[in-house]
Amino acid sequence: MELAELAAHEIHCLLKKKEVSVVEVVDAVLTRIDEVDDNIGAFITVNGEGAQREALRIDQEISRGREILPLTGIPVAIKDLICIKGMKTTCASRILNNFYSPYDATVIEKLREAGTIFIGKTNMDEFAMGSSTENSCFGITRNPLNPDTVPGGSSGGSAAAVAAGEAIIALGSDTGGSIRQPAAFCGVVGLVPTYGLVSRFGLVAFASSLDQIGPITRDVRDCALLMNLICGYDPRDSTSAATNIPDYTDSLLNDVREVKIGIPKQYFGEEVDEEVAEAMREAMALFKRHGAKIENVSLPNTEYAIATYYLIATAEASSNLARYDGVGYGQREKSDNILEMYEKTREAGFGDEVKRRIMLGTYVLSAGYYETYYLKAQQARALIRDDFEKAFQKFDCLLAPVSPTTAFKVGEKTDDPLKMYLSDIFTIPVNLAGLPAISIPCGFNSLGSAIGLQLIAKPFNEEMLLRVAYTFEENTKMSR
Ligand code: GLN
Repeated sequence: MELAELAAHEIHCLLKKKEVSVVEVVDAVLTRIDEVDDNIGAFITVNGEGAQREALRIDQEISRGREILPLTGIPVAIKDLICIKGMKTTCASRILNNFYSPYDATVIEKLREAGTIFIGKTNMDEFAMGSSTENSCFGITRNPLNPDTVPGGSSGGSAAAVAAGEAIIALGSDTGGSIRQPAAFCGVVGLVPTYGLVSRFGLVAFASSLDQIGPITRDVRDCALLMNLICGYDPRDSTSAATNIPDYTDSLLNDVREVKIGIPKQYFGEEVDEEVAEAMREAMALFKRHGAKIENVSLPNTEYAIATYYLIATAEASSNLARYDGVGYGQREKSDNILEMYEKTREAGFGDEVKRRIMLGTYVLSAGYYETYYLKAQQARALIRDDFEKAFQKFDCLLAPVSPTTAFKVGEKTDDPLKMYLSDIFTIPVNLAGLPAISIPCGFNSLGSAIGLQLIAKPFNEEMLLRVAYTFEENTKMSR
């Protein structure tokens, strides 16, 4: 296998044995980007020279005795809504097209300290609003498994980069499914951590009560290694949880004996493709053979999840995006009247989907409608959270599809926002409840599109996710 296609832990072994240098690893990935990115479109910014310079520096330090940590020298792609000092952070929006971040996000500081190499910033749906990476002012990203299909979204660039060998590992963000769904569509691993486990300092906010940063990797071991780096308390994020961070690689056990897995019946309705449902049934059979206990469970308020999400997420987005007024940062349209300047800037700077969300969110929060919509949504959110809490009194984790379908065709859903929203039906409830969930590759349909299996656990039980996911991977060799 080529260097650019190896997992981080495999490259780590080669670096340790001095069979390759960091410069060689970075060159392999940059060469791959040169070869394929014109077709895939995974990157908004490629940090070619910066990455080569950094690789050389790390090789020199290694030769002087620098310790090679598990992710030292590993090329990482970063979704373009996480700030890296001195680099552009655009959120795939015209309004931030000229914004250079003056500081590092906390996750970036941590990766930098460990010696990972920032290979570039990845394409995404504008401000993370979308499920296909078609809402970007820089053009679309294509799915490396089948370029006629979307890579999923909104972290489609990160997932596509990892799937295509244009990065070894990546970071994405997940507000309603944006790590798990693209990971599923591109046949890679994606994990959304418990709300509060990973600092969002330096993450551009979309819907603050839902947003989380998480890993996108080629296999479960790399996912655990990246989690080891990015988790942990940060006083600069007021929602950051003060909790002990385990060594997640300790959870990589090929063992699900006595693990109780719940199958939520609402996640297996008729909207699910038969081939996706069949892949889920095969996964259940595998877990059963390995000693897990599988039983059905009901999450009765699931049907309210999409409506609830599109009230809460748009309300928060309308407030978070109020800062893009042409004054603080980003693009400014000229006018001698300040109100007109705001209007023109926002009119020219935001794309259609972002405008739709801002209008919806402003409406939801406006006097007279607040109680009817926003408060009602908060109540529904509590019910959805209670459903999960009850389920986790009995189960260690839940198993469901990531998405009812596999990757859809480019352009198939762009004219129908509601159809697009519905593709997140099985990922959104997890964010509303603040739970951790992982998406792992679980086979292909007859057209060769990847199918993703989702595992959901109780808050701060990422270890259970990794253990069950690792068991699946070890016994199927589905990843990569
Ligand atoms: N697709 C969902 C949306 O458009 C979720 C996006 C996300 O998780 N950032 O809101």
